[in-house]
Amino acid sequence: MTTEPRIIKFYETTLRDGEQTPGVNYFPEEKLAIAQALAGMGFDTLDCGFPISSPGEFEAVRLIASKVDNAEICAIARANPADIERAWDAVKIAAHSAIQPFISVSPLHRKVKLNKTRAEVLELAKAAVALGRSFTENVDFALEDTTRTEHDFILEVCETIIKEGVRFVTLCDTVGFALPWEFGKLVADVRHEFPQARISAHCHDDLGLAVANALEGLRNGAERVDTCINGLGERAGNAASEEVVMVIKTRSADLGMDVRVDTARIASTSRLVARLSGMQVQWTKPIVGQNAFSHGGGIHQDGVLKDARTYEIMTPESIGLTSADRRMHMGKLSGRAALDAQLRELGYQLEKEQLNYAFEMAKLLLGKKKVLEEMDMRYIAETTVTNTIV
Ligand code: MN
Repeated sequence: MTTEPRIIKFYETTLRDGEQTPGVNYFPEEKLAIAQALAGMGFDTLDCGFPISSPGEFEAVRLIASKVDNAEICAIARANPADIERAWDAVKIAAHSAIQPFISVSPLHRKVKLNKTRAEVLELAKAAVALGRSFTENVDFALEDTTRTEHDFILEVCETIIKEGVRFVTLCDTVGFALPWEFGKLVADVRHEFPQARISAHCHDDLGLAVANALEGLRNGAERVDTCINGLGERAGNAASEEVVMVIKTRSADLGMDVRVDTARIASTSRLVARLSGMQVQWTKPIVGQNAFSHGGGIHQDGVLKDARTYEIMTPESIGLTSADRRMHMGKLSGRAALDAQLRELGYQLEKEQLNYAFEMAKLLLGKKKVLEEMDMRYIAETTVTNTIV
């Protein structure tokens, strides 16, 4: 008997934590375009913004709420009545709506940011969930900086908000400090104490561990994960949506998990977000980087040209690209097979001897020039054809 894989839910926050990326500022119609792309991919909940922060932000969230009916539309709020009412006002017209109040729980944040005692923070969390629940059943609550908080206080806050009828408890590695097994244990401990708790994992990438931490959260019982396209977000960003999706898709059988996300729209959504955010994707970024399906070394290129599975664990098609997006970079370390493939793409079919000649020429040129462009390749091919007699 095979067990059905667990379907992981997504709290997609490209439009909120992603907009907190220093330098990013979406206009309302841009937020709408991104929201439509994300909803079309099948992400469950879209965290669309922080309505109290500005009139423009309120309008943007309300615009999405009025137009997008194929995902849940959520907005965030600090744990005070004005924020929560404003958040609810922005999303309430949506076909499916939710709100997520939050408060900092760590000793450092309580002292420095809030100047509040544990008891006061607890009271604010309780009141926030209670007020939210007067508007909707879909009230999630985030414990900011959970991973730097006293264990007993985390459990106390969880107990309080669960009693008030919170839907998802969002455990946050706000500063990207946790190690994967620590974050996993945090989720396991909360689940052990409150088996009915539904947990969302919010992980930042300051140490490059956001996806690993989120995955450990999921493995230990978190039902949902907070992510951003292209790994956008505060500082080093959040767990990248496309990475979490493709980890689960690629290793589904071993993880016992699956996702209901249309992976074939990953590349186009990544490009849309890169364009509208102005944040270019690093070339070696997993899944969506320009080099994710490109090969540089001669041994690798030879293997891939024979059978792409030799050096690829995913296909370009799986994220909405084509085999034409699989590039053989002709560099100093490349082999004849890559050169031959590139020249064929440009319409040159060289004989074996000619290819040797062209190859020598390419290597000489690469001693002087960083990359060979199409113009250089044509020059090599034409010169080879002129200078060799077959
Ligand atoms: Mn965050």
